[in-house]
Amino acid sequence: MNLVLLTDNLFVGEVKRKVMKLNFGGMIPISTVDWCGRSVSVIFFNGCPLRCLYCQNYRLIDGNNQVELEEIEKKIIGSENFISAVVFSGGEPLMQYGALEHLAGFTKERGLLVGIETNGYYPGRLSRLIEKKLIDRLFLDIKAPAHPGKYKIITGGVEDAGWRVFKSLELRGVPVEVRTTVFRSYSDISGIAESLKSYDCTYVIQQGIPENAPDEVIKKDKTLARDELAALARSVSFLKDVRIRTREKGEEKIN
Ligand code: SF4
Repeated sequence: MNLVLLTDNLFVGEVKRKVMKLNFGGMIPISTVDWCGRSVSVIFFNGCPLRCLYCQNYRLIDGNNQVELEEIEKKIIGSENFISAVVFSGGEPLMQYGALEHLAGFTKERGLLVGIETNGYYPGRLSRLIEKKLIDRLFLDIKAPAHPGKYKIITGGVEDAGWRVFKSLELRGVPVEVRTTVFRSYSDISGIAESLKSYDCTYVIQQGIPENAPDEVIKKDKTLARDELAALARSVSFLKDVRIRTREKGEEKIN
């Protein structure tokens, strides 16, 4: 087995211990924009192994807010009459694998679907969740083409990020929605779309909000308009299911 995947899977030992707390980044009790066609709760996990230049949630990266898992379960129960699924997001939810596995299992027991929004850095842990049938839809953030150098730049110097992410994309057994957040000073949609050509996935181009980014250059960008995103989507019409997501109009299927 590859050394990276082996390291990734060493977390299995931790899962066997009782995980009682989550480093909790917050919750949106009801959202209609995070899973097309569904009303969902979104639970944010603090912490992330990457440092993306345009991170839209960077306040979560170093957050520390330890909350009993029982409290999170109560929050899910509080929303369950209004939702059909829970999306676990971040930060990077797979960084806290034990808490994630527990909460995904709890969510399934309540008769709700589970979505995981991940940067793909932990293919071994992701594979384990899929094997356990704890994921119904995977939302995979892809930030650059399958080129280690490009991936390293956008993720703040993380050497193996690109390799790991495309390993995650190769996993089978669950529908995959790939997402890319774009900015005027950073977007490589054509390169990413080329890298996706041989995969069966939905591709969503998301409107980045420059003022939410930590990078000073991106922060000064003018937000890309809905029509500009639609043009980007049309430029990769060789992919079979391409959508855009904007503040103005929500999610729209373009190709
Ligand atoms: S992977 Fe996501 S949460 Fe982590 S730094 Fe990048 S954009 Fe931020």
